[in-house]
Amino acid sequence: MNARHTSAETDFLRQRLAASDIADVGARVLAGERLQMEDGQRLFATPDLPLVGMLANVVRERLHGDLAYFNRNQHVNATNVCEASCMFCSFSRLKTGDAAAYTMQLDEALGRIRALRDELVTEVHIVNGLNPDLPFAYYTDLLSAIRRERPDLHIKAFTAVEIHYFANKYHKTHAEVLNELRAAGLGSLPGGGAEIFAPRVRRKICDDKSDADAWLEVHRTAHRLGLRSNCTMLFGMIETTDDRLDHMLKLRELQDETGGFQTFIPLKFHNENNRLNGLYEASPLEVLRTYAVARLMLDNIAHLKAYWPMLGVTVAQAALDWGVDDLDGTVREERIYHMAGAETPQALSRADLIALIRDAGRVPVERDTLYHIVAEVS
Ligand code: SF4
Repeated sequence: MNARHTSAETDFLRQRLAASDIADVGARVLAGERLQMEDGQRLFATPDLPLVGMLANVVRERLHGDLAYFNRNQHVNATNVCEASCMFCSFSRLKTGDAAAYTMQLDEALGRIRALRDELVTEVHIVNGLNPDLPFAYYTDLLSAIRRERPDLHIKAFTAVEIHYFANKYHKTHAEVLNELRAAGLGSLPGGGAEIFAPRVRRKICDDKSDADAWLEVHRTAHRLGLRSNCTMLFGMIETTDDRLDHMLKLRELQDETGGFQTFIPLKFHNENNRLNGLYEASPLEVLRTYAVARLMLDNIAHLKAYWPMLGVTVAQAALDWGVDDLDGTVREERIYHMAGAETPQALSRADLIALIRDAGRVPVERDTLYHIVAEVS
């Protein structure tokens, strides 16, 4: 694992730190000490933004050297019917029968899996709306059918918000829902639905779905059952930087307890086709600072992922120098953020991802969902 961060660069970094307003914070990073809320506040406030990025890069290279991970994955959104009404959501439709509402039949979902049989996809990522018209068997049948069709495929499915909804709707505990889904083929949980944990913000943007405590409790239960999961944060809406830090610290606290999170994925809000379309989107520099601060605050989550469909390919590539070590994957058939105005392609090829990573001076590594190495591409 080669790292570009040489001792000469460290000398340069120390000199720059000494002249900055975050010298003590930087010293703690270089010493490998845990940062606190006030440190995060100062990282968000300092005018020396490149220095924040350099510190995040030190941590990134300490953990991963020059390696940059990606996978070959496919998205399936089986239904966009959702009885919640999150203000930032461009994907959902309230009722079956509404314009553009859809619910896939099993054959349709399987057809999408079959279509990519030759592309050596290793993961299917499934997230959906909270559809009040479906029985629980719809989901277990979906997983079982995918498992029969492609036993080699890892199924990463259902946000904690969906799991909590299933528990309430079908009168089960979180553990019962997770165990039944696992028996049908569930391999791990994605990190969606976390949005921003701060109750003040959540009340305004998504007050009719599970709260932060429920989201965290689902992941706690999943980890205790031996399932790994990811975690996210939707940012760039009406939250403050303190809200972002509070969100990161709550994830860090749960990770201290369970160790079950694999990767943190900050997701940039997109403002088209939803009820927050009067808001400006976060600028690329704001995005990079948020990623860097996340890398510095979340000292116990191994990976930081730039989800390129939301960030844009260029910013995601640049983020490899701002703490990020993972570009997600080929992401066949992304719908959720393209319906919110994302202008990125709907998929990248394996060759595209390798070229992006190499252009950034990093070493591409194809991984599976659980970060086992599929192929090092040197
Ligand atoms: S974000 Fe999820 S829960 Fe909220 S409206 Fe959209 S699909 Fe439904």
